[in-house]
Amino acid sequence: MQVTCIKCWDADALVKLHLDGSQVFECEGCDEKFECADVRGMIEVAKKWAAVLKWVEAAPVEEEAALS
Ligand SMILES: [Zn+2]
Repeated sequence: MQVTCIKCWDADALVKLHLDGSQVFECEGCDEKFECADVRGMIEVAKKWAAVLKWVEAAPVEEEAALS
């Protein structure tokens, strides 16, 4: 399964999983390493962004609003 690196977001870069039990992912594009916890953190951030986008798209365009 091809997944996108959470460090460089290069869709063409190959992300490898270290099969030594360390559960470390390594990106061949940027040489960055990250773990399951990093991906989980990214998912939490993305969930909040999804909620913000939903709110933004539902907000009236003529009114100014501050993110809080
Ligand atoms: Zn990368």
